[in-house]
Amino acid sequence: MPENLSTETTETTENTETAEAPDIKFTDFGLDGRILAALSDVGYEKPSPIQAATIPALLEGRDVVGLAQTGTGKTAAFAVPALSRMAELADLNGPAKFTQILVLAPTRELALQVAEAFTSYAKHIDNFTVLPVYGGSAYGPQLAGLRRGAQVVVGTPGRVIDHLSKGSLDLSNLQYLVLDEADEMLRMGFAEDVEQILAETPEDKQVALFSATMPGAIRRIAQKYLKNPAEITVKGKTSTGTNTRQRFLQVMGPHKLDAMTRILEVEDFDGIIAFVRTKMATEDLADKLRSRGFQAAAINGDIPQQQRERTIEGLRDGKFDILVATDVAARGLDVERISLVVNYDIPHDTESYVHRIGRTGRAGRSGDAILFITPREKYLLRSIEKATRQPVEQMHLPSSDAVNALRLNKFADRITETIATEDVSVFRDLIANYEDEHNVPAAEIAAALAVMAQNGNPILVKDIPVAPAGQKERAAGRKDGFGSRGPTRTLTEGNATYRIAVGRRQRVMPGSIVGAIANEGGLSSAQIGGIDIRADHTLVELPAELSKDQWRALSKTRIGGELIHLELDKGRKPAGSRGSGDFKKPFKKREGEGGGFRKDRGHDGGFRASEHDAADRKPRHKKSADAGTFQRREKW
Ligand code: ADP
Ligand code: MG
Repeated sequence: MPENLSTETTETTENTETAEAPDIKFTDFGLDGRILAALSDVGYEKPSPIQAATIPALLEGRDVVGLAQTGTGKTAAFAVPALSRMAELADLNGPAKFTQILVLAPTRELALQVAEAFTSYAKHIDNFTVLPVYGGSAYGPQLAGLRRGAQVVVGTPGRVIDHLSKGSLDLSNLQYLVLDEADEMLRMGFAEDVEQILAETPEDKQVALFSATMPGAIRRIAQKYLKNPAEITVKGKTSTGTNTRQRFLQVMGPHKLDAMTRILEVEDFDGIIAFVRTKMATEDLADKLRSRGFQAAAINGDIPQQQRERTIEGLRDGKFDILVATDVAARGLDVERISLVVNYDIPHDTESYVHRIGRTGRAGRSGDAILFITPREKYLLRSIEKATRQPVEQMHLPSSDAVNALRLNKFADRITETIATEDVSVFRDLIANYEDEHNVPAAEIAAALAVMAQNGNPILVKDIPVAPAGQKERAAGRKDGFGSRGPTRTLTEGNATYRIAVGRRQRVMPGSIVGAIANEGGLSSAQIGGIDIRADHTLVELPAELSKDQWRALSKTRIGGELIHLELDKGRKPAGSRGSGDFKKPFKKREGEGGGFRKDRGHDGGFRASEHDAADRKPRHKKSADAGTFQRREKW
């Protein structure tokens, strides 16, 4: 029995009809034997609390409202009793030729997942078809499936309505209707569709509504369409699985990739989802990880549905281990082997964070969540802890020395293994000849070969700074050009120096520059190199080739309320040429405009303050409404 499904974390409300029952077994419910066999096939040992509470009520024929957080086993809670009843009916009357069960789910992914679950629980029942119907896929196979008669239809509300109006779906004999993830369906704007479907189904059907939360709108639907429902709430102690350990790692944007690589080297993991903010960043990070020798794939909303499903299958089957995704693309994803969620980019709001980390710790396994947080984002931790009601511990990357020792050991192991398992005779001769001809010791030759084997990847890592350089270093760095993000006087290959029209005068910070450019230009922060903040402008190292879209987006970008006027830098003026004569102006300007810095500070103070004095803050928000980072973060 998985820990997070155990009754220890269960707390029931007054409405709950069935209290926790520590030792309930699936065999206690009087379920059909074929269903019991299927449950044992999928390896469920005993019912989760929500299952223990809802299965008896549903078997009795009652309407049910079931509230429990994600990952608590709600699918089986409604599928198992429904299938059991249908199987017994079929024994009496012969297999039904019409749709008996309809499940509405918010997304294609969830519809597919629920359909798969039904199929696995119905495995030992003959003549039983489950058909998923969802938008964005061809009607043909769905129509054919419906014509053949599927006893169970799992669909998204929009597509179900389409089929109803086409006459291809007949619900006149429907016996059981499930609204799964009802709150999510509402959030996605399906309320009307759901009501329309409810209204078009027979009076005497049984209805089950499952949801993680119970907003007013859902309560209204329940009151209107469910008959004296048993309301069952299973509350976990936290809104996230208690078996998911949350950690944060303070790391600056440009070092995220290195930090990620290091985590992949030192952490034990099975499957991983890494979340990034933009579609472009999914591909970008997956590419970079692949080029560092990790097996990674990307999914995002632009990738066609079928390909997305294949990718998810690939992860499920262990064809690769790291999935890089946007929030939207990974919604509701249930892949049991995901043992680690990396929040590579911090999510837009706490709700997304909770959803993200809900992708791990599935099926009662323990999970890990790591959040990359830049120094400027650190204040957001409190909101996360509040939302998850669970602490987020600080983690530290192992030192470079530790990683390097590990790498060298691994390399040595590869040598041992190769000698033991591979035929090395061709090379042995070649090396022996080489040693003679060139009079070079074998160790030297082997070392050269080792470098070749690394394929251009250095075997040793360097230290990753965790915070911006201190004041002193920054001052020293300034003299040197690209100070605050490391001494990158020489540009990284493929990069160019750009100039933006905000600088010390606007009191911009490297973080706000990286944030704005990464967000607006859809760049990963790793693509942003050195930043040299001058008096009235800043030099930024970015990819030399920016796409038209990126130029367009960046030309509209503001930092601290000011347009940045991105342009390629034509010859860097010597630092300090603008002189200290400018020195007084920034103060004036700031006073007059409530300049950049104060707005930046608004980030920190603003979120806490906004609960109390939102009105007071509004005008300031408005002014900087076009500063992308700012708007997004407001959601916190
Ligand atoms: P929810 O809909 O509440 O988010 P799911 O129905 O998707 O949760 O179930 C989450 C995971 O738990 C799935 O992988 C499912 O197979 C597994 N699961 C469900 N019930 C049990 C059980 N009784 N024992 C073990 N695993 C279970
Ligand atoms: Mg679910």
